[in-house]
Amino acid sequence: MGRLIGLDFDNTIILYDRVFARIGQSMGLLPPNFSGGKPHVREHVRAMEDGEAKWSLLQARVYGPGIDGAELAPGTFAFLECCRAAGFGIVVVSHKTETAFADPQGTNLRDAARAWMLRHGLTGGGPGGIGTDDVYFESTRADKIARIASLGCFAFVDDLEEVFREPGFPEPVSRHLLLHGADRLPSGPFHAHRSWSDVAAALLPAPSRR
Ligand SMILES: [Mg+2]
Repeated sequence: MGRLIGLDFDNTIILYDRVFARIGQSMGLLPPNFSGGKPHVREHVRAMEDGEAKWSLLQARVYGPGIDGAELAPGTFAFLECCRAAGFGIVVVSHKTETAFADPQGTNLRDAARAWMLRHGLTGGGPGGIGTDDVYFESTRADKIARIASLGCFAFVDDLEEVFREPGFPEPVSRHLLLHGADRLPSGPFHAHRSWSDVAAALLPAPSRR
């Protein structure tokens, strides 16, 4: 494999916005008329009494059984194709425990994610073209960062700016924050983008883009 671009999974490749709202409502954490994506749900739930625990349990339900209702982020296949055309390999590196701390008897989160990737054609010879062996799940953020370093990624794309602010984040890896459809982009030690095509424009040589 040539030079590698590393991608986060949750809320980068896969979007859970509708799932957060739907499951949050079914758990009685959100009013029935609530509309909003993950950031709004998080804000609302964490402001409740015992909000952190409620938010953790909601996340466990969303990233486990709720994954069936999640959507592939728009433009993902086109981005992956552009990367291949430009001679880059793709790896997915995700901070995801086997089961959620808030729901230890619940769904195996890694199995659920692998099955979702296969079903959506990201792996298994589908149009996404990602090798099953090129998907890494790590138990802590530090392990994730260590994996990004050991794989020697040229660039990494993530929706969580905290990842790029970690002191251990490897210096040579170019940092790309992707907040799909965001109104406002934060600034920090990263390049910030709203879409996969913006990431491609920043990362890939012009002839391979479209
Ligand atoms: Mg993420």
